[in-house]
Amino acid sequence: MHETKFANEIIFILKHKLEPDALSKPLVVNVRLSPLSHVTPQSLKEAFKVAAESEHFPNELKLSIKTMEFDVYCKECKKISKASAPIFNCPRCKSTDLDIQKEREFIIDSVEIAV
Ligand SMILES: [Zn+2]
Repeated sequence: MHETKFANEIIFILKHKLEPDALSKPLVVNVRLSPLSHVTPQSLKEAFKVAAESEHFPNELKLSIKTMEFDVYCKECKKISKASAPIFNCPRCKSTDLDIQKEREFIIDSVEIAV
């Protein structure tokens, strides 16, 4: 499942890309999830919790999930709009002739120490 893959990407970052002493502090992992992904924030949180527990991290880990925006190109009015939810009509001219830019479904933005 995709949520497991995304959760494992976060675990990889935590294990290999942080300063060695970072895992003694409570951390917040900031990620963005595409609204076009079939992975929901809830399922990602659950998958991350399971993955993190099996790693026995000593510290508190929180996941902050934001919605990723994506570009929608309208072939009718030739304008690009931003959307953060599934979209079926151009927001400007209501045309349904759209090209939706599906880039990535999931991005890890940063890991920061919780305050
Ligand atoms: Zn349009």
